[in-house]
Amino acid sequence: VTAQTVTEHTMTVNGQPLAAAQTFGVINPATGAVFADAPDCSREQLDAAMESAQRAFLGDWRRDQGARRKALHAAADAVDADIDTLAAILTAEQGKPLRDARAEVASVGVCMRWFADLEIPREVLQDDEKGFAEVLRKPQGVVAALTPWNYPLILATYKIAPALLAGNTMVLKPSPFTPLATLRMGEVLRSVLPAGVLNVVSGGDDLGEWMTSHPIPSKLTLTGSVPTGKKVALAAARDLKRVTLELGGNDPAILLDDVDVDAAADLLFWTAFTNTGQICSAIKRIYAPERIYESVVEALADRARRVRVGDGAVEGTEMGPLNNRPQFERISELVADAVSGGARVAAGGGPRPGPGYFFEPTILADVEDGVRIVDEEQFGPALPVIPYGSLDEAVSRANHTTFGLGGSVWSRDEERAAAVGSRLDAGTVWINGHAVFGAHLPFAGMKWSGLGVENGTFGYYAYTEIQVLYRNRG
Ligand code: NAD
Repeated sequence: VTAQTVTEHTMTVNGQPLAAAQTFGVINPATGAVFADAPDCSREQLDAAMESAQRAFLGDWRRDQGARRKALHAAADAVDADIDTLAAILTAEQGKPLRDARAEVASVGVCMRWFADLEIPREVLQDDEKGFAEVLRKPQGVVAALTPWNYPLILATYKIAPALLAGNTMVLKPSPFTPLATLRMGEVLRSVLPAGVLNVVSGGDDLGEWMTSHPIPSKLTLTGSVPTGKKVALAAARDLKRVTLELGGNDPAILLDDVDVDAAADLLFWTAFTNTGQICSAIKRIYAPERIYESVVEALADRARRVRVGDGAVEGTEMGPLNNRPQFERISELVADAVSGGARVAAGGGPRPGPGYFFEPTILADVEDGVRIVDEEQFGPALPVIPYGSLDEAVSRANHTTFGLGGSVWSRDEERAAAVGSRLDAGTVWINGHAVFGAHLPFAGMKWSGLGVENGTFGYYAYTEIQVLYRNRG
């Protein structure tokens, strides 16, 4: 299967295919050329999608959780069965190596099944002669969901699975850079979900704004950048829509002085460079003690020089291109800025000549806080390594940011590392690892990295309203 064999990509509204009068081109980042078109949803079509989700919500869907669990299992099976096509499309529009695209598709089914089988504990608050009180969890209604271009399928699933399990219905919009795999997933799920339960539309950021200001949805959920998160929160405020925001990060990794550099180097490197560094919770800055600083820089530079960079569709590729031109230009600019400020290029350092948005895996040494690539979220294959003197200084520099998504501490001594980790202001802290995710692990950003929680039982509750049912006996 190649991505090109799927020639027509349609939206899914009310369980039916829907084409649009206008389309927009989708670029393969390995070539820089348009390879397919996606429908550009009109306002009237968005209204139809919202109304269809509303009808489905008001029907039987929210009444029978058993049926919803079965539907999620069927959805997982349907996605698994389409893995070849979904993965080929994902690689073509996103750029990631095919085996990573397959892993992403496979994780969709895992997540759907995890939520399908989630046991939700009964919450009894009072049971005595005066009364019986318990908490019930009610669905919120129609959810408007917006996703980014780095992991379109799994990040959508982190929303679809808990929202549907709770009895909500959804209108989902992927990023205009990567609409096709999500449209395909909508198509695949038409036969297993009741009409209107999951609508998939595609278009630009303006379509996202129409969705967040639309009167029908009562919940907005976004995975995206901090500036978009703030706009979505403002849109939610107008009529008090509920909101979940999974936003950007600038995750620090702090190495302690006893770390085994050679043993840790591969994992350190790949938790920064997987998906070409385009992971919200990738390592984005490393703090290394002065005593071992040079060995850390050299170990990472050595890994960077050996990476096979290329078209993700080609067997053996370990790292694909950046997803899009603005991101490619941003990384080029941040690296040039660091170098002009005195950073030493230990590996890589610039774009790769030729077509496509390829950038050499880059390790920057002798950089400090205050340089843009340290202070901002780079979201690409360039990693600053920063020397530190005292551990207190490293912790305070790690926390000195408006981001608070993830962080990690690396040491031979797990307890010591965990003690340092507990001082990081981040929603997730990993010890001797980084960027481990799963449906069972609640994921939330502190500070500007987000609002609310995704995944785990907390992530299920995020798609519910509580209702206290009090039976008076007094
Ligand atoms: P983005 O914020 O530009 O876009 C995300 C989605 O929001 C897209 O579908 C886009 O069309 C839509 N959108 C844009 N402007 C909008 C508006 N005003 N109103 C409504 N919708 C709008 O983000 P991106 O560039 O696609 O993704 C990269 C960012 O996502 C990075 O900052 C990354 O860290 C973050 N991210 C966070 C997580 C997480 O779980 N915390 C995961 C992956 C990516």
